[in-house]
Amino acid sequence: MKIPVYLDNHATTPVDPRVLEAMLPYFGEKFGNAASRSHAFGWEAEAAVDEAREQVAQIIQAASPREIVFTSGATESDNLAIKGVAESYRDKGDHIVTCATEHRAVLDSCKALERRGYRVTYLGVDRYGIVRLDQLREAVTDKTVLISVMAANNEIGTIQPIREIGQLAKEKGILYHCDATQGVGKIPMSVEEMGIDLLSLSGHKIYGPKGVGALYVRSKRPKVRLSPIIDGGGHERGMRSGTLNVPGIVGLGKACQIAMHELAREAARLTQLRARLKDGIFGQLDEVYVNGHPTQRLPGNLNVSFAHVEGESLMMALKEIAVSSGSACTSAALEPSYVLLALGIPEALAHTSIRFGLGRFNTEEEVDYAIRRVVEEVTRLRALSPLYSGVKAELRKGEQGEIKAQGRIS
Ligand SMILES: *Cc1c(COP(=O)(O)O)cnc(C)c1O
Repeated sequence: MKIPVYLDNHATTPVDPRVLEAMLPYFGEKFGNAASRSHAFGWEAEAAVDEAREQVAQIIQAASPREIVFTSGATESDNLAIKGVAESYRDKGDHIVTCATEHRAVLDSCKALERRGYRVTYLGVDRYGIVRLDQLREAVTDKTVLISVMAANNEIGTIQPIREIGQLAKEKGILYHCDATQGVGKIPMSVEEMGIDLLSLSGHKIYGPKGVGALYVRSKRPKVRLSPIIDGGGHERGMRSGTLNVPGIVGLGKACQIAMHELAREAARLTQLRARLKDGIFGQLDEVYVNGHPTQRLPGNLNVSFAHVEGESLMMALKEIAVSSGSACTSAALEPSYVLLALGIPEALAHTSIRFGLGRFNTEEEVDYAIRRVVEEVTRLRALSPLYSGVKAELRKGEQGEIKAQGRIS
């Protein structure tokens, strides 16, 4: 077992060796520009890009590979989808509906549009992080041009009712953009069955390279019109100019192919591994709470609040385990995660949370090691906390309450 143990697979994933192998020739002898139409070097690169386009299309069950636009990652895909639709459908309306727990790439794109005069509704979520469909239905107006709700949350792993959102969007004649960066390769995604019109994905969250991603743009029923945000040589059918990152695109394609073939097996294995981690921690510590949905969540995600322990301190004490805390360092201070706050989790408890992200290369041995270290450090830090012993006495009087009951993952 190698220390430190990497349990932060929602932040990024290691490149699968099979992906690396597929990419290497395109850093070497296969260096052509995919836009060079006049010689074999260009044709070779173009053929590789075509194959990758097919592989990306397949994992999301797109009707045609022509619906895939390669980008620099999901941040760019989100920007292109949201700003591209907003600009191109300006004659139809100026309103967008999204959700408070979306990734920054979506929220900040919406904020940028608000500064340009668009109106945005940010839907709240229930205590598990799921959007309320009745609120979504109420939020849309005849001026709404886009609904943007993610597939699965990067912090708490909660999976949104994608199909129902797609159906509602269809009913109302509104486009549906889904940031599926955490969903693709982890849960089955089908743009056709789910009624998705635009879908963002990223290479480095699915064991592919960083700096490459894609945006699916529906071409039929309806044909989505998209204004580009980068102008230039008219690559990617005019939607995203710039010489294609051929090695990266080859890697993204290979990553999709592998993920598609191994999805079911990997999801089952990670679900078991996650249960092992959860049971190990919950069996030995009291006052620990799961954040996110009990069952509707990503197989590899476990987000836990360890009451009376600062998540940041715990993370620092756990140098041998790479995880993320539920606090973000802004310029001014340590801010609790806006995602956890949107679930109604009190600020103090949000500060005690740790996100474990299990992935393809994690082992039982690593999970057992993580359990041992987490239990040791939480116990040690709590012993130093003057509050903890007092609160514990209170709790023993039988006030555990309902939070305890929600801390259950199957
Ligand atoms: C990582 C992530 C992004 C950003 O992807 P990049 O490729 O790193 O730009 C967007 N949305 C979600 C849900 C993510 O997890």
